[in-house]
Amino acid sequence: MRYISTRGQAPALNFEDVLLAGLASDGGLYVPENLPRFTVEEIASWSGLPYHELAFKVMRPFVTGSIPDADFKQILEETYGVFAHSAVAPLRQLDSNEWVLELFHGPTLAFKDFALQLLGRLLDYVLAKRGERVVIIGATSGDTGSAAIEGCRRCDNVDIFILHPHNRVSEVQRRQMTTIFGDNIHNIAIEGNFDDCQEMVKDSFADQGFLKGTRLVAVNSINWARIMAQIVYYFHAALQLGGPARSVAFSVPTGNFGDIFAGYLARNMGLPISQLVVATNRNDILHRFMSGNRYDKDTLHPSLSPSMDIMVSSNFERLLFDLHGRNGAAVAELMSAFKASGKLSVEEERWVEARKLFDSLAVDDAQTCKTIAEVFTKTGELLDPHTAIGVYAARECRRSLATPMVTLGTAHPVKFPEAVEKAGVGKALELPAHLADLFERPERCTVLKNDLKAMQAFVSEHGNRGKPL
Ligand SMILES: *Cc1c(COP(=O)(O)O)cnc(C)c1O
Repeated sequence: MRYISTRGQAPALNFEDVLLAGLASDGGLYVPENLPRFTVEEIASWSGLPYHELAFKVMRPFVTGSIPDADFKQILEETYGVFAHSAVAPLRQLDSNEWVLELFHGPTLAFKDFALQLLGRLLDYVLAKRGERVVIIGATSGDTGSAAIEGCRRCDNVDIFILHPHNRVSEVQRRQMTTIFGDNIHNIAIEGNFDDCQEMVKDSFADQGFLKGTRLVAVNSINWARIMAQIVYYFHAALQLGGPARSVAFSVPTGNFGDIFAGYLARNMGLPISQLVVATNRNDILHRFMSGNRYDKDTLHPSLSPSMDIMVSSNFERLLFDLHGRNGAAVAELMSAFKASGKLSVEEERWVEARKLFDSLAVDDAQTCKTIAEVFTKTGELLDPHTAIGVYAARECRRSLATPMVTLGTAHPVKFPEAVEKAGVGKALELPAHLADLFERPERCTVLKNDLKAMQAFVSEHGNRGKPL
């Protein structure tokens, strides 16, 4: 499988190289040159497979030529073997023909584990084969950091540095990062805000001298392997609900458009998906595009669903590429105009094309809490605020009551106690068994000034399993 850039000017890469690449050299994002397509009969024959075996069927075409089948199978069995629920991604019914796909049974209780548990193992596999080591530097406001650290903790060939804003992430989120020990795990609290952390990561990619030749890898949501891993659970859910003989609709709590883009790919690979609902919080740039063809940058509004607090959605460019007939030059032009003006709209017929599949809704904090309370009262299910946004949007945007509607349950409610408390539901939030002693565990973290050079010096000093690079 070869991968090409959405801006058409970067060299095509194979899977191995795309795994280690961040942005393409032309500023675009990598996508498969040709998407695999499965027949309905083929998909139907996967019904009843355990999650890791289904994952093999769905993802195999993407890694062909880079990872032999037997090795890939073993990696997948290990990856999904660490999930706390034996079904990996169980469905829970909320109402007639309405479901939540629970994607929070991984080590850090959010759906990002599906991709990052796999990414860590794939990186280690490829690096061992090449005899290379890499450094990962990432910035987090919460979820991504812990999932990335959990994904890399057993990697022999990766040192991971995760920057979070000092005293500005929740205690659960901080502890999920700082209680994981390893020579290759480095938590850094920066005396600044999330943007400062992100800026430092960006600057480090731009000037890599401090790494003394060691390769720097990104694990943010534009990494192709993360998208790839997320395609699988759309197949998994549909197969439980009568697919592919009948269509299924999905509602996806959305920030950077990675998770829902995976659903769009599942459909293009042959899975009958009749509708995808983009569910956002007040940070609604995607809703403004889907409802009115205006993808215009706004300021950031902090919300009770912080993992979807974004100003622009980095993976949206991948959809634009398809909407423009995969014309890289057209996308490059559009993105450079967007960079200059902060505004983007597409020709009417392209927007109409997108709207055949996508609907959208922006849900505010008050409605989020109301939905958590309502669902809890009616069903006893406690939703996290991101999932609650998905459920409310699903109900408002649903096109057909005869089609099963599945909301992706992106996080466990215990990660976001503020929203659950505001919703006024009396149920005590309990940490799942594998994290029950989280608040008693020792923590390890280095606090650094908001200073690029200090951060880079720390990485050079510790980037080789705790020793200097
Ligand atoms: C990351 C995240 C999202 C948003 O996913 P995208 O792929 O960025 O759209 C939604 N909910 C939770 C809990 C998350 O951690």
